[in-house]
Amino acid sequence: MEIHFRQANAGNYLSAARGKKDILYLVIHFTANDGDTAQNNADYFARTSTSTSAHYFVDENEVWQSVHDADIAWHCGTRGTYFHPYCRNANSIGVELCSRMKDGKYYFRQGTVDNAVQLARTLMQKYGIAPDHVVRHYDVTHKNCPAPFVENAAAWQDFKRRLIEEVDDMTADEVKKLIAQSKTVYGTADAVPAWGRATVDKLVQKGWLKGEGGSDGLNLPEEVLRVLVINDRAGIYGE
Ligand SMILES: [Zn+2]
Repeated sequence: MEIHFRQANAGNYLSAARGKKDILYLVIHFTANDGDTAQNNADYFARTSTSTSAHYFVDENEVWQSVHDADIAWHCGTRGTYFHPYCRNANSIGVELCSRMKDGKYYFRQGTVDNAVQLARTLMQKYGIAPDHVVRHYDVTHKNCPAPFVENAAAWQDFKRRLIEEVDDMTADEVKKLIAQSKTVYGTADAVPAWGRATVDKLVQKGWLKGEGGSDGLNLPEEVLRVLVINDRAGIYGE
């Protein structure tokens, strides 16, 4: 995925030269704004020294990086209590999702969540981060962040599920192709090729092989047909 970069103001992060093994967690946040963009945030943190930062900002169209992965961003620290035993700024990457507001509640646009899933998967692969090391800011300090994933636990579970789903990156056409490659299925007795037809007719006649509508709707995979034909040749189904 394309990731734009605009370096944050030097007052917003710690230059750290972290190695691959130092990055153990991904922390997900929301911007708590209504309709901001990833670039808005990158621009803001570049020109303003606020002693806060995140590595990435995501909206429905773009991903902007503000702090290099090797540097420490200030996104999940607290002077209060930590509720996560290990996850800290020093060993994590912070990802902020741009939010919107409706009826007094924050929400994410679908495209923003989709882009965040893709970014998270990319970073997990790059640093060997396990799915259970992808956490919410809430899990670290109990701050209501990201609100749409704290107030709706099912939405967070769905986000987590998508981090490990294999078919996510496949288009519908690729999935269809894979299914087509994996097996030939004969829908009806008429569709069965000559080499298997006598066997199928026999089994249907005996009532041992039934489709949803008699000899229709058989949905017989080719591998299964081969076994039936071999059995038939061996005399297992009689005359
Ligand atoms: Zn946060």
